[in-house]
Amino acid sequence: MSDTKAPSRVEIPSFPNGKRIALTTSFDDGVVQDRRVVKSFNEWGIKGTFNLNSGKLLRNGKPSTEASGHIDASEVAELYKGHEVAVHTVSHPHLTKLDSIQIALEVINDRKALEDLVGYPVRGMAYPFGSYDEKVINVLRECGIVYSRTCENSPCCFPPKEPLAWASTSHMYRKNTVSVNENFENCHGNPKYTGVIYIWGHTYEFDRTGGNWADLERIFKPMSGKPDIWYCTNIELFDYEAARRLVVIAANLRTAYNPSAMTVSVSVDGKLTDLPPGKTVEL
Ligand SMILES: [Zn+2]
Repeated sequence: MSDTKAPSRVEIPSFPNGKRIALTTSFDDGVVQDRRVVKSFNEWGIKGTFNLNSGKLLRNGKPSTEASGHIDASEVAELYKGHEVAVHTVSHPHLTKLDSIQIALEVINDRKALEDLVGYPVRGMAYPFGSYDEKVINVLRECGIVYSRTCENSPCCFPPKEPLAWASTSHMYRKNTVSVNENFENCHGNPKYTGVIYIWGHTYEFDRTGGNWADLERIFKPMSGKPDIWYCTNIELFDYEAARRLVVIAANLRTAYNPSAMTVSVSVDGKLTDLPPGKTVEL
């Protein structure tokens, strides 16, 4: 038996390295305006999830030269490197209007086509038109989809009760309430706040009447470069949450076991310690 004193409190913080906020984004439809957003996000260290309709991607074997419209399938792997590619169905239907088999085909065929392009298992999704119901959720579950984003808003969006009906914090141009930037300030400016800020939109909205490319920098740059924020993709949030839930802390608080495949941070009497994957660590 160890004669060192056991810690009096061991906690498993929500995010890696004890960061108090996670910031994630998602953009739908796979359009050429994604390029400009990805370039800026790469400079600023912000991550995004890009929900693509494989049936709408161009198939010319070279990047599209059009000023608007969809990207070419050949661009997908390189363009979204470091971000997440996720399902948005093959053809962007209202899923609630389809029967179960058509729903499954829209999801599985999109998933397979995107996996062929990116070379990793694609597990996330956003609903076309935000349209879903109980039947759609049940089909998605069978298709191995881990989460699916709706068009609903929730100030406390993570972890969701139903990951297949996941609300974001808000759309990037949300109306009739505080702006995305005010909300960010309210959360980040409050040192007691901890949680997920999740903003979604379409990158073509920066390009159309009423939108403006200046908004990309105005909205997102002030959120970048914060040492207390974890910048992550949608699936990284779910993967980390799954890993931290597996951590076992001994009842006597002297050891902890991390059976997952990723490093998880624990706080031992207020001091952060990493639990390496598959290891038991003395605290
Ligand atoms: Zn869409």
